[in-house]
Formats: sequence, structure tokens, C-alpha cells
Amino acid sequence: MEKLIQFIEDVSSTNIVYSKPEGALRDVSGMVRNVPLIIYPKDKSEIQLIIQLANKYLVRIYPVSCGKNWGFGSSLPIENNTVVINLKDFNNIENIDVINGYATIAPGVTQEQLAKALADTPYFIDVTGSSADSSIIGNALERGIAYNSLRVENISELEVMLPSGDTINTGFSGLTNKSASNYPWGIGPSLDGLFFQSSFGIVTAAKIKLIKRTMNAKSFFVALKDEKDLFLFVESLKPLLEDNLINCIPHIFNSERLYPGFAPLLWKYFKNINVEKSRDEIDLLLNKQFHGKWFATGNLRGTSEQINLGVKYLKKITPKNSKLQFIGKREKYLCQILKKFPFFHELKAFIYVTDELGDLTCGTPTNLTLPGINWVVPGNESSLFDLDIDKSGTGGFLYFTPMCNYTLTDIEVMLNTTIKVAQDFHLVPAITLNAIKPNIMEGVISVSFNKHNFVEVQNAHQCIREMNRAMISLGFLPYRNNIDMMDVLTYKKDYEQILFKLKQIFDPNSILSNGRYIPTDKSLEISVKSVKVAA
Ligand SMILES: Cc1cc2nc3c(=O)[nH]c(=O)nc-3n(C[C@H](O)[C@H](O)[C@H](O)COP(=O)(O)OP(=O)(O)OC[C@H]3O[C@@H](n4cnc5c(N)ncnc54)[C@H](O)[C@@H]3O)c2cc1C
Repeated sequence: MEKLIQFIEDVSSTNIVYSKPEGALRDVSGMVRNVPLIIYPKDKSEIQLIIQLANKYLVRIYPVSCGKNWGFGSSLPIENNTVVINLKDFNNIENIDVINGYATIAPGVTQEQLAKALADTPYFIDVTGSSADSSIIGNALERGIAYNSLRVENISELEVMLPSGDTINTGFSGLTNKSASNYPWGIGPSLDGLFFQSSFGIVTAAKIKLIKRTMNAKSFFVALKDEKDLFLFVESLKPLLEDNLINCIPHIFNSERLYPGFAPLLWKYFKNINVEKSRDEIDLLLNKQFHGKWFATGNLRGTSEQINLGVKYLKKITPKNSKLQFIGKREKYLCQILKKFPFFHELKAFIYVTDELGDLTCGTPTNLTLPGINWVVPGNESSLFDLDIDKSGTGGFLYFTPMCNYTLTDIEVMLNTTIKVAQDFHLVPAITLNAIKPNIMEGVISVSFNKHNFVEVQNAHQCIREMNRAMISLGFLPYRNNIDMMDVLTYKKDYEQILFKLKQIFDPNSILSNGRYIPTDKSLEISVKSVKVAA
């Protein structure tokens, strides 16, 4: 404790910006950590100084890029009494290569910042459904998933500051020879993978691959009548992905995911025209508009011939009783005309929602996916549009993200297990299935609760823990997890030993992100010591 006080004194004697939280910090999932200090370095030299002081006083630090890892722990560290290094102010865009489609950015660069910087270029940044203010590098390091691609596949040439204070570069930028190409993998053994979901270094810059804008784009929306239609659609979508007729990541979700996304914006539309709508009335509107239990969205991008082909096949695979809609230039134009009419308020309300949410699939990030978090707990109307969802309102949620093969059997087992476990805890899960590859389906499952109600928080956390247990026993492992559930997966002994050796090499004083995806329990600490002796 004394050392921590000295560390804080030394940091406060510099010009580095910091804040001292009053009391423990609590996130949107009701997780709580004692964080003595949050530091906001704005460049590499400030990070280096913090690392030096952390080594000197053996203080534990936890870097985040923008700290918006909601549903997984937000900006909270794994361990108590850890200092958070929030890199949101270290946010320079070093370079945009508009010829080859790459941007080199610092960790604090947000989705919105890069999207704006690319506005008049032939490229866009593939965005996630998280807020416009969330990061690109932090999300990629968590192996986050955007609407058209996996962030992990689009990041390269990492610049990493190690806990020793040294900096290394990966890929071709690790060579003394200067590279004139954007080839991302370098030559020889690749170290990139060591810095994802890891505690080996702080990423201070990276190259991000951008997506070329196409001549035409059209988004699609399918309302699937029931579960039978869901499986018919999922089955016939697979060959379209395999044959590249659809080149986005189709998102398929239940009404528990869709409704809270639309409801607060519908509510706001009516409020803007001085019509108070109750929650029940909003639900009625949604039921009237969306005839279905499951929904699918995505986009078609390419030449008009490519889009026409995509349209043709989507029409072919949409089950008879389900409904397929497209939004392209023509539909947007018609909506603009409809908006001018003084009546048709219900229709105009849905146009308003679609306009407000913008074109996520073509690189326009939004903050308006957030109000749904507080909508699910009644009584939060005044905080719906407050973006600090860790603090505002009472709405809370927790994610679970298992991966399964893209086969009907596996998807059915994953869905049934999700629903069964949630039912056991009296919860109704919001479910999204992301077809991230023609042979891999990602499940994004969340449960909602009142984050200020201890019993509800406990129940939801137990539910997600049980979901982890049940799915892991079936082989559907999560690709990322929340800070309280780092223990649900175990490494094989030999692999774990190698991880410990690497931790010793990179971070001999164990100052960085301890417990993040690598266990640190007592027995393992003993084996680390024996590794050191043997080395
Ligand atoms: C409505 C909603 C929709 C969402 N949609 C999506 C989605 O579509 N796809 C998705 O992936 N997520 C989604 N999320 C989850 C989450 O909000 C995002 O993943 C978000 O991008 C993570 O926050 P961040 O970018 O600020 O990363 P951070 O919180 O800054 O970073 C995440 C973690 O990475 C590590 N890290 C960060 N920066 C560094 C660094 N510089 N060096 C070393 N380690 C570092 C830390 O361990 C940190 O905890 C959604 C959340 C909500 C509420």
C-alpha cells in the first residue's frame, strides 16, 4: 500500500493527467473493482514513464484503449488495487494510405474519429455495433467482430511497449530493412498473436486495413416468421457465403435483441412530436411492424450486377412466409419523400429510427445502439441517451460469446442450451448469431438486469457462468470473456508453462494486466518460480 501511495505521488508530480476515483468503480454489468488511480497518458513517453514507476514500486497496471468493453468488464481490471491506464487521449491518426487502404493509428483513436477522417476517401473503416466512441485497437486486441470482417484479421504491424519500457514492432516493421508494401505478416516467426488478449505489452500503434467503398451498396433485412424459417434461412445462407455472393457478416437475432434497439428511438420520435407513448404502445408498434421471431441483416456491396445477383439469391432463400426488405438508394429516396408528409407517423417513426441508426454496415458508427441497455429496465427514460452506460440508469447486461461450427445441428444445440440455461435463471436471453465465416457461427448472448439490484446481478452472473459451463462441456468455447470469468477455461499444462515463461520474459515484475486470460493463482505462481529457477 505504501508503494502504491509513493507511485501515486510520483505520478502526480508529473504533467500526466490522472484522476482518483472516489470509492470502488462499478461497470454496466454490476462488476466492482477497487481502482486507486486512472491515468490518461497522451503519448509514448508518458506511457514509458508510467511503466518505469510501476516497475519501481511494483504497482499493477491495466491498459485500455477507450475502456468501453461493455458486457465484458468495461475498463475494469481483473485484479483489485490495479491502476488503469486509459489511452483515450493518445489518439493521433499517424497516416492514412488512400492508395492502398490502410490507416496507422494510436490506441485512443475511436471508430467515429477514423470514420470521419475517411469520409472523402475511397475507403471506410469497418465498424462494430458498439459506440462511435469505442476504440479500434482495443477492440481488435479483444478479437472484436465488425459488420463485414474480423478486426483481428485487419490489424498488423503492431508497435508494442513492453513492461521493460522497450518498444518492439511486429511484421515487416520489425526489420532494419524498410518495407514499401502493406504485406501484413512479415517474415519469419510472427509475434503479433502474443499481444491479443494478453498481458505481455501495451500496444501503442497499429496498422488497420480499410475496406474499399463500392459503386453500389444495399442493406437487407429479413423477418423470419418462426424458428423453422430461421433454420431454413440459415441453411440456405451458407452456400451464398461460401460462393461469396454475400461478403458481409450476416447478423441473425431474436426479438429480444431487436426490440430494445428500436424502442428508445421510436419513443424519442414520438416525444419529439409531443406524443407520449407508453412502453406497451411501443411494443405494440414493434409487433405490428415486425412479423417475426427472428431477423437477419447484412449488406450487399459491389457493382450493380453483383448486387442484383445477391438480391436474386436472397429472394430465393427467404422462406415463403417470411419477409425480405432492401434499403438502397431508391428506398432511401422514397423515405425522404415520405418524411415530408404531415401524417403517416407510425411509418415515419420507423424511418426516423433507420435514419438515426445510419449505415452501420458501410462504416458509419453510431452511439444510438446504447439506449437499448437502459430501455430494458423500466423507469430509465431520463437516462436513455446518456452515453456513460456504466454509470447512467439502472440497465445492466452481461455477454457470453460462444463459437460453434456452421451446421444446423450445432446451432440448434447452442440455441437450445442458451434458452434452457436462461430459463433456469428466469431470464430471457437476447441472442445474435453472426455468420463470421461460412463454417463458423459466433453466438452473442446477453442477459439484462437491474445493475443496482444485488439479487438480479448475482442471478445474471450465475446464469452466464452456468452458460459458460454448459457450452464449454459441449465444445462451444467462448472467444472472449468477462473479467470475472477468466477461470472458466483451462490451458493444457505444457501450454500454460510456455505462457508463464513468456510472461516472465516480457513482464518479470508482473506489473501488467495480471490475470487477463492467463491464470495467476497461487499454485501457478509457484510453478512460475520453478520455471525461473530451471531457466
Ligand atoms: C450495444 C453494444 C454493441 C456492441 N457491439 C459489438 C460488436 O459489434 N462487436 C464487438 O466486438 N463488440 C461489441 N460490443 C462490445 C464492446 O463495447 C466493444 O468490443 C468495444 O469496442 C470494446 O471497447 P474498446 O474498443 O474501448 O476497447 P477497450 O475496452 O479499450 O479494450 C478492450 C481490452 O483490450 C485490452 N487492451 C485495450 N487496449 C490495449 C492496448 N493498447 N494494449 C494492450 N491491451 C489493450 C484490455 O485488456 C482491454 O480491457 C458492443 C457493446 C454494446 C454495449
